[in-house]
Amino acid sequence: MSTTEQRVAVVTGAARGIGAATAVRLAAEGRAVAVIDLDEAACKDTVEKITAAGGKAIAVGADVSDEAQVQAAVARVAEELGAPTILVNNAGVLRDNLLFKMSVSDWDTVLSVHLRGSFLMTKAIQKHMVDAGWGRVVNLSSSSALGNRGQANYSAAKAGLQGFTKTLAIELGKFGITANAVAPGFIATEMTKATADRVGMGFEDFKKAAATQIPVQRVGEPEDIANAIAFFTGEAAGFVSGQVLYVAGGPLD
Ligand code: NAP
Repeated sequence: MSTTEQRVAVVTGAARGIGAATAVRLAAEGRAVAVIDLDEAACKDTVEKITAAGGKAIAVGADVSDEAQVQAAVARVAEELGAPTILVNNAGVLRDNLLFKMSVSDWDTVLSVHLRGSFLMTKAIQKHMVDAGWGRVVNLSSSSALGNRGQANYSAAKAGLQGFTKTLAIELGKFGITANAVAPGFIATEMTKATADRVGMGFEDFKKAAATQIPVQRVGEPEDIANAIAFFTGEAAGFVSGQVLYVAGGPLD
């Protein structure tokens, strides 16, 4: 690749929240960005934000847990933007419940979107990275990987992504590809708002209560996570691989 050629980034679940902030941030870093989400029309806001700022982006509708849709989406990105060499596996869902009440389908849905989705996307894109001799994969883990009441499915998926990340780093390093995980704490998005709704709290009160438990005394914003992802996907991070970075306003491990 010549130094003037634009690298192509794929961000999943980028219609809103952390994914949208990451797509905007990577575009500001000069990447052409494929904004992927379940509903292509829902990606419009993110794409418009990027193009209004002079960046390049396309919206692509795909369910990351569906192999055929993933393959079609990656083929479209390669065709319309060029070979993707940056991948942020961010798409996610919650189906919280205590273990004894958790349905098999809620277990399967969460494992399928987070783990199978990240596997399918990475498998489809790694060949472009290998051909380019350069690549960056960032997987969204979570502080819940350390265990969280009511999230047996989600914590298993997020811990699984950490093992997946380290194995990618080991297997793909010789092709100039790094893989890292960002594990957010409490970030103010629709996902945490849905949790507030579920426990019957107003979102502002829910955030205030969460902030008292966080050393920096505030909850995170999507841009806090986008900043960490921008580092891992940057040219300068080529010797940082297989790491899990907790971005939670305080220490976690
Ligand atoms: P969010 O606001 O709920 O956004 C997630 C996006 O992913 C939504 O646009 C959703 O689309 C999309 N999505 C869901 N299933 C998909 C699928 N099968 N294929 C493609 N897209 C799909 O969530 P967020 O808070 O920004 O979280 C982003 C990531 O960070 C997730 O992996 C989450 O687990 C992780 N995380 C978040 C927090 C937090 O505090 N917010 C903390 C730790 C980790 P629909 O709206 O159509 O469902």
